[in-house]
Amino acid sequence: PTNNDFILAVEGLTVSFDGFKAVNDMSLYLEPQEIRVIIGPNGAGKTTVLDLICGKTRATEGSIKFKGKELSKMSEHKIVRAGVGRKFQNPSIYEDLSVFENLEVSFPRGRSVMGALAFKRDAEVINAVEEVARTIFLEDLLDQPAALLSHGQKQWLEIGMLLIQKPDLLMLDEPVAGMSVAERKKTAELLRVITKNHTVLVIEHDMQFVGDIADRVTVMHQGKVLSEGSLEKVKADPKVIEVYLGH
Ligand code: ADP
Repeated sequence: PTNNDFILAVEGLTVSFDGFKAVNDMSLYLEPQEIRVIIGPNGAGKTTVLDLICGKTRATEGSIKFKGKELSKMSEHKIVRAGVGRKFQNPSIYEDLSVFENLEVSFPRGRSVMGALAFKRDAEVINAVEEVARTIFLEDLLDQPAALLSHGQKQWLEIGMLLIQKPDLLMLDEPVAGMSVAERKKTAELLRVITKNHTVLVIEHDMQFVGDIADRVTVMHQGKVLSEGSLEKVKADPKVIEVYLGH
């Protein structure tokens, strides 16, 4: 494939913190609709790569091309508008609002919580909320205050709040941390369904879950790509075995 076939093409990405290269000449190419999982030991630079893509951290060197646009100099909110959604580990939902309202205020035309609630609930918003609610398994809980949801349901709600903004790329940081086995299975199902319209980039430690969702795996170590390919392939890579078992 050429660079134009990739929805995201990261090249030579480097960031130094006081001379320490947390990400060091990293490349990453994502095809539309794939689920890519980044794995690697603690401190490998996984979170920093997501921070760089969403503009939370500025690169020292390198380029981040997303749908042909260079993201590395764009502000965080412009990157969101360009179609990149990022979910952090701790859900940032509105506990006092219902499931419906949490999704409604995330609908892109709302600029603030109060502003969005002041809009009439027209059919477009209602349809979008109901469609997303089905995807995240909360269609029967639309009137429930978010505070009463389980930990797993809160994680899904936050994914839903991103989905309703229709990002082309969805980045998730350990999406199944703290979830039950049943919730992990449903999350894998959810991610499979949304690849129809979204590319997904996930950081994950749970290898069972990685095996369930990953089209391809990128193994990071010391800020660099150590290995890349199917989970089977990277698991058999002697370099990966050494990093995971060699100390
Ligand atoms: P991972 O997500 O793979 O566990 P991180 O991306 O969180 O790794 O961190 C990679 C390295 O960069 C770690 O050594 C971490 O301490 C360092 N690091 C991350 N962010 C900063 C920062 N803002 N300032 C200084 N060092 C940082």
